[in-house]
Amino acid sequence: MTERPLTDDEAWAAVLRRDRAFDGQFVTGVLSTGIYCRPSCAARHPRRENVQFFATPSEAEAAGLRACKRCSPKDVARDERAVLAAIAAIKAAEEPPALAELAEAEGYSPTHFQRVFTRHTGLSPAAYARALREERARAALSDEGTVTDAIYAAGYSAPSRFYDETKGRLGMTASAWANGGKGATIHWAVVDTTLGSMLVAATDKGVCRLSFDEGEEALRARFPKADLVEGGEAFAALLTQVVASVEAPANGFAHIPLDVKGTAFQEACWKALREIPAGETRTYAQIAAAAGNPKAVRAAGSANARNNVAVLIPCHRVIRTGGDLGGYAYGLDIKRELLRREEAGD
Ligand SMILES: [Zn+2]
Repeated sequence: MTERPLTDDEAWAAVLRRDRAFDGQFVTGVLSTGIYCRPSCAARHPRRENVQFFATPSEAEAAGLRACKRCSPKDVARDERAVLAAIAAIKAAEEPPALAELAEAEGYSPTHFQRVFTRHTGLSPAAYARALREERARAALSDEGTVTDAIYAAGYSAPSRFYDETKGRLGMTASAWANGGKGATIHWAVVDTTLGSMLVAATDKGVCRLSFDEGEEALRARFPKADLVEGGEAFAALLTQVVASVEAPANGFAHIPLDVKGTAFQEACWKALREIPAGETRTYAQIAAAAGNPKAVRAAGSANARNNVAVLIPCHRVIRTGGDLGGYAYGLDIKRELLRREEAGD
């Protein structure tokens, strides 16, 4: 890729970003554990002083290091080919191919292939196929033609399935946030993403909570009277879209419904946040003005802090006047990475 060799600083920066584009260009040796990894390894980052970079797996092994079992750094090229082949097969198929079929075609076991595919795309093959179909349905709907044509063209077996999978996806409505969630059923899951462990929770109206490094207990504290249900089939379809949006925020997520409740001014601020184009940032003063009260800069800051749905209400797009990143509830690393992905169009 690059003509000149990478500097150690560039390599380390790629490791910190878990940048898949650098997989295959070098491996990260961790001298304290005797393991070497691909740059994008999802394992906890080693300390910089324990790291030595090697151009190839064989050089790392010559230095006495063993390949990480989690990221299999020796399989980069093979994995990439296999994932690309599977993506092509999914795109070409009328019905989404079974995981076992995709795996076998590339000589992997189903569980291993699921892991490899997910590491590369952020989605399982089944979720990828679903996201692809929804993407096609949306794209087709914006062109000419009837809704039914668009649905069939996107590969849905019947119109009713499309409505089942996409109904209720619009707008901000409020319910679960009133009265501790009394009467609301909230489906939730904690998933591993390239930004870390992520909690997603949703009512039948939309996503009511998205946060990092939280679990059921924290959710229970916010909705003490709601009926919390882990997982669920309809929820899984929504979860797929949420994960895809977090992994690739530049693709937009206006289609994902939210269930949030704030004061009128807070909701106006959240709406203003949703209107910031990916790749751009605003200051609190600009958000306050967009929400209709240019003087309420501090209130805009507090609306930002009270945002319950990270990423999808993109409070990470607000920075301080002068360009300082400001704060972020889940740490500046995540904020920086989200902004980087949006700016890069990822
Ligand atoms: Zn690793």
